Amino acid sequence: LAKTRGRNSIHYFTENMSTDFLKRMELIDDLRTAVEQKQFHLVYQPIVDLHTHRIAKAEALIRWQHPQKGLISPMEFIPIAEEIGLIVEISEWIFTQVSQQVHEWRQRHCADLSISINTSPVQYRNEGKLVKAWADSLLAQGIPYEAISIEITEHLLMDNQVEVVEALETLRQQGITISIDDFGTGYCSFSYLKNFAFDYLKIDQSFVQNMSIDNNDAALCEAIIMMAGKLNMQVIAEGIETEEQKQLLIDAGCTLGQGYLLAKPLSVMDFEQLLIKQNQSGSTT
Ligand code: C2E
Ligand code: MG
Ligand code: MG
Ligand code: MG
Repeated sequence: LAKTRGRNSIHYFTENMSTDFLKRMELIDDLRTAVEQKQFHLVYQPIVDLHTHRIAKAEALIRWQHPQKGLISPMEFIPIAEEIGLIVEISEWIFTQVSQQVHEWRQRHCADLSISINTSPVQYRNEGKLVKAWADSLLAQGIPYEAISIEITEHLLMDNQVEVVEALETLRQQGITISIDDFGTGYCSFSYLKNFAFDYLKIDQSFVQNMSIDNNDAALCEAIIMMAGKLNMQVIAEGIETEEQKQLLIDAGCTLGQGYLLAKPLSVMDFEQLLIKQNQSGSTT
């Protein structure tokens, strides 16, 4: 009867593990169903010119509406989809959706619109065959390459340098622009900047959001903006939530921004309304 504390904690630990394990198995199962039943949709968050508030870019963000559990965050299911390889199928679906959508919007509302897609390391395996096929697909559909932009994170470059860089280089030569996402949160940020020319550098929201309260964050933002300029990259500041942050970024020389202050991620219909409004008035927000 007298259990030791040690045995109790082991018992507790294994019980917890098995609930985590079961939850994970369930999520994997649900994800497979989600792909089959197309439970995903995309929202589009405007990337705007900080001076004029004009939209010429947007980022596509995936949403999973689970029939019982409601909306599940991509932060929760993308890592699992990456682990089990399902991200490949999901990403192909995203590419098809985005390419059709951007084509339509360019023709009807905004001729220079470009939409960025987040990509995962798995998609760059086999010499990046999958992402390279995107360029062919755009060509076949008569969609200009500059209509699509690809976002990668620093982690992606760390994992598999040569293969990834080579694939991105090919795409970039064809005219698909490349953004480095969540800049400043990964490791070894400088060596790859030396070897590869990105079109856009997205300053992570954690720096932007502390700009007005932390001098170090403000200094880092200013330095990143200056560095990017010297390397011929355009900067996009992520996660702008206040007027003060926006003004500090403008003062530091940043021209493009994304964040709740400017616009939230929008449904297809709401994004289209914004484009229509922009055409009527010249600016949106
Ligand atoms: P991310 O690519 O850095 O995307 C930006 C995230 O910041 C989005 O969260 C967006 O909704 C959020 N955000 C935008 N403005 C603000 C703001 O002003 N304040 C705050 N607090 N947040 C803001 P979301 O949509 O939940 O996506 C989270 C992450 O999930 C993304 O980070 C990206 O890494 C991943 N993800 C989302 N969609 C996709 C996708 O289609 N494919 C892949 N592979 N990953 C995706
Ligand atoms: Mg992104
Ligand atoms: Mg980001
Ligand atoms: Mg992020």
